[in-house]
Amino acid sequence: MVQLPIYLDNHATTRCDPRVVAAMLPYFTEKFGNASSINHIFGTEAHEAVERARRQVAELIGASDNEIVFTSGATESNNLALKGVARMYRHKGNHIITVATEHKAVLDPLKRLAHDGYEVTILPVDGWGLVDPQQVAEAIRPQTILVSVMLANNEIGTIQPLAEIGRICREKGVLLHTDAAQAVGKIPVQVDELQVDLLSLSGHKIYGPKGIGALFIRKRERRVRVEPQIDGGGQESGLRSGTLAVPLIVGLGEACRLCGELMADESRRLQALRDRLWQGLRDGLEGVELNGHPTQRLPNNLNVSFAGVKGEALLLALKDVAVSTGSACTTARLGPSHVLKAIGLDDERADASVRFGLGRFNTAEEIEWVIEHVIATVRRLRRYATRWAESAPV
Ligand SMILES: *Cc1c(COP(=O)(O)O)cnc(C)c1O
Repeated sequence: MVQLPIYLDNHATTRCDPRVVAAMLPYFTEKFGNASSINHIFGTEAHEAVERARRQVAELIGASDNEIVFTSGATESNNLALKGVARMYRHKGNHIITVATEHKAVLDPLKRLAHDGYEVTILPVDGWGLVDPQQVAEAIRPQTILVSVMLANNEIGTIQPLAEIGRICREKGVLLHTDAAQAVGKIPVQVDELQVDLLSLSGHKIYGPKGIGALFIRKRERRVRVEPQIDGGGQESGLRSGTLAVPLIVGLGEACRLCGELMADESRRLQALRDRLWQGLRDGLEGVELNGHPTQRLPNNLNVSFAGVKGEALLLALKDVAVSTGSACTTARLGPSHVLKAIGLDDERADASVRFGLGRFNTAEEIEWVIEHVIATVRRLRRYATRWAESAPV
């Protein structure tokens, strides 16, 4: 028996791993010290826990401890990276390059920078959501200070050719930032292989707590500088002031440690479940189309359009399965998602899309249940649609 409802919205957020919760708990109670108050045992205990977590985050992405700054999440990391670099390197230039399918947590800070006098180039993607590294190279001008390209997309799962873009940026002496919130913990991410200078990650996308994230800022090879966006007590080397959220930081560290340990097996297992889901839907239904790249995609992502069915209607009818249309962060806004538009989907196909996001706690039984019920629900909705169309006055 599967337990309902079934959670398949792991791009929006993930359930905290019980091992993460267990690691965090003492830091709310016995070990409650301020990590800056290192003149007594309460403070040193907290400080040591924070530094252990910093090592765990750094290790997962192949960075050094002193290249990790804790933030409140990927949104804040993106803001610190983009605004911090833009303002720090203003004397060098005012041009920034990004891509149309980025998360709003990249596009909106850049919109604000554009309002403040920066020039922002937004590159298009192909039908699979890939940006062409050659187009990145051609967009770089003498005034270009920063390129920001996400590693994996949160709606369609497409993985960008970031190492190639990294090589180009390195060659041209331009800094490269990546929003890796969906990629870290799901696919191998090594900052030196990708040649990125700044990388954003988030706790709650990797079975850690909400409200915590980190920004990698390169210090080895080239020393990248960012202007702080929050001033105060001087924590995090003055780059992000505010009393450190010790329990959340411990949770993020443990979440990273677990991802490092489990990722290889977990991504293989989730990819097999995802492929089974896709196969099952195709076997049972006509008119299903994959959105995003067929192979260059996250192992846990499936984005599908069901012809003749509105995604919203499918979500309502399928109340025992938690999935999403477009991205959770934009469902409050009207109109089709900017990502699906950018890959060239017309409004009808974009409206017909559903995002399945698999995660650590999904089982094969759940996927079989979902296949069966999605097929039945799509067939029912299509029948209603035809019946309605047939009975409607012409
Ligand atoms: C979830 C997500 C964010 C936002 O992360 P928060 O930690 O919730 O601020 C940013 N970018 C991408 C790609 C995401 O998936």
